[in-house]
Order: sequence, then C-alpha cells, then structure tokens
Amino acid sequence: MSNYAGALSTLEIHLDAIARNYLLLTKKLKTGADCAAVVKADAYGLGAAAVAPALFAQGCRHFFVAHFDEAAALRPVLPEKDAVIYVLNGPWGAEPRDFIAGGFVPILNSLSDIAHWSAAAKADNRRHPALLHLDTGMNRLGLSAKEAESLSRDKSALLSLDIRYIMSHLACADEPDHPKNREQLALFRRLTDALSMPCRYSFANSAGIFLGPDYHFDLARPGCALYGIRPQDKGPNPMQGTVTLKGRILQVRMIDISSTVGYGASYKAVAPANCATVSVGYADGYLRSHTGRGAVVIGGQKCPVIGRVSMDTIIVDTTALNIQPAAGDWAEIIGPAQGVDEVAEQAGTIGYEILTSLGKRYKRSYTGG
Ligand SMILES: *Cc1c(COP(=O)(O)O)cnc(C)c1O
Repeated sequence: MSNYAGALSTLEIHLDAIARNYLLLTKKLKTGADCAAVVKADAYGLGAAAVAPALFAQGCRHFFVAHFDEAAALRPVLPEKDAVIYVLNGPWGAEPRDFIAGGFVPILNSLSDIAHWSAAAKADNRRHPALLHLDTGMNRLGLSAKEAESLSRDKSALLSLDIRYIMSHLACADEPDHPKNREQLALFRRLTDALSMPCRYSFANSAGIFLGPDYHFDLARPGCALYGIRPQDKGPNPMQGTVTLKGRILQVRMIDISSTVGYGASYKAVAPANCATVSVGYADGYLRSHTGRGAVVIGGQKCPVIGRVSMDTIIVDTTALNIQPAAGDWAEIIGPAQGVDEVAEQAGTIGYEILTSLGKRYKRSYTGG
C-alpha cells in the first residue's frame, strides 16, 4: 500500500490527560474552593468544543473565556442550567441583552463597565450577574486601588448588580518567592474588606494554586496547567502533557561538506550530513524563531532543526541517528519525548504561545474522551 495517502501532520489531544490535570488541581485546592477552567483562545488552541465538555464531565461548572463570541460558541456544548460562562474581557462585543440571553457573565473591569452594566440592569429592572475585577498589581484590567476605595465609600453603582465574585489576577505566581505575590494578596484582602460585599472571591490562576491555600479563596481559575504547561518556574512539572504533534518526513538526502540549507543559505554544513525534510512550518505554528534552535524527535533521538523554518517545512539533521529515517516516517514535534515547555524554550517563548499558535492544517484527533 502506498505511504502517500496518509496525513502530513497529526495533532492528538489527550482529553484524559486534561481531565487528570483538572482533578489534580482540584485536589490541591483547600476544602470548599471550586475549580473553574479557563478555556479562552479555544482552550489554549486545543479546541474548547471538545475540552469544555470533558472538563464538565469531571465536575467543572465555571468556564472562563475572553470574548463574547467564544462564550457564544461554547454555549451549545455546555448545559446552560449547570455551567456558567464568564467573559474576561468584559461586557464588550455584544449588547447586554445578548449576554443575558446566553447566560454569560461579564467581568466588570472598569468604572465605565460598571456603569454600562448597571444601566442595562436598571433598564431591565433586574439585578444582572457580573464579576468585579480589582487590579492589584498587573495594571492590565480591573479597577485601580483608588477606584475600589472610592467604590467602597459609595457602593450605589453596584446596587443594581448581582456581583457573584470579586476577582484579581496575579502577575508573578509562577515565581513562588516573588514578593509581588504577597503584596497582591495583601492588597486584595484590604480592598475586599473595605468593599465588604456579600459575595465570593476568585484570585488564583494555575500557578496561584501552587502558592498554597492563602491564595485559593472560593474559585480558582487555572488555564495553562490543565493543558500540561508547567505552572511554576522551578521543580518537576506536576502536570501531564496533553498533546502529541507529529510531522511526516517528506524527503531525506545526504549533503556534502559546505552545502547550505534552506532560505538565505544561512546554514552551512561543516561535514557531510544526513537531512530530513519534515512537513511542519511556521504556517502550522512551528515558530520561525525555532530556526537554529529547535529539535524534533525521530526514533527516540533528538535531531536539530538546521536552516530557517519555512512556511510548510523544516529541515532537520539526522546524521547522529543509528538508523536513518525514510520518507513517510514520522518526526515528533511535541509529545512524550519533548514536552510543550521544552519546545517553547527552544524558540525563546512560553508554552502558552506554542499551544495557541497550533495551526489548522494538522489532522486533529481527540483521545481518551
Ligand atoms: C488567562 C487567565 C487565567 C489563566 O491563567 P493560567 O496562567 O493559564 O492559569 C486566569 N485568570 C485570568 C484573569 C486570565 O486572564
């Protein structure tokens, strides 16, 4: 049978590993704290339509996305009665009635978000649900400390709202010893005490869960750890890898000393070498910054990427392999032999960017669902 008819590249997403990661995080949390799932950016590139129901099956009832459209896409795969979908970037992108009709809860990140949302609530004569975001040090989204303090002196802006949680977001939780963690925690406590609202609190992302129970509050919001990305910068990664990405070897060749490889002839062989051309390129999310730094795994051994990453292919040096590969064989790009964090490090980036960059051309499959 011809070896030509199969896929050129495959992406397997292991739902069972995502489920185990979720359960590990729930076990880390203090008693009484719930564990949400951050499934923004299509569940960090892995496919929210498959990932969110798999997490729901493990008991997850709180889901965070960034955009209204992501929430709307998720609704058909999550039961409205039991699963709440929160929109991190706030009440933008749709009319309030569309948020309410879908049962989507926006995060209110500014005083104008609060004004906008309470005007809608007053118009409907109902207390619309929302989360209130306090900035405690990111300076990204959320009310400043000053704004939170003035709100605590006059809470009338919140009267028409059903604030389910007050939340904040950690800037340095992946570095457990960073003084900013304690500072943000202290400020969050101070501001929420002053507000003294009858609501619950949400503070920790993935890394925050590993900072211990002081950081857990009522609802944790892990993202990266669910998908196997290491939550903290030191020590062994407690999370399981969730993707296996493979590219096919399309061609092999031997090159002479002083031959150049790829665009710009930027790589020059210092000795005769065996090369293989693999069917993955920057259009698939294999970053151009992997040029001269990336590696793939063939027959259990690492083979360095030589020459520039092109749109549809990379060229790897297989000289060191005991058994030379043939056209049609597979190269592992991400998987058990080299995890997403290692691949990210090769390109000088973080696992988040590798996963959210995964392209559309891979033949995708979901296992363990
Ligand atoms: C993305 C995001 C998270 C999840 O962060 P991870 O580091 O992936 O766990 C949690 N909270 C907010 C506000 C976010 O934007």
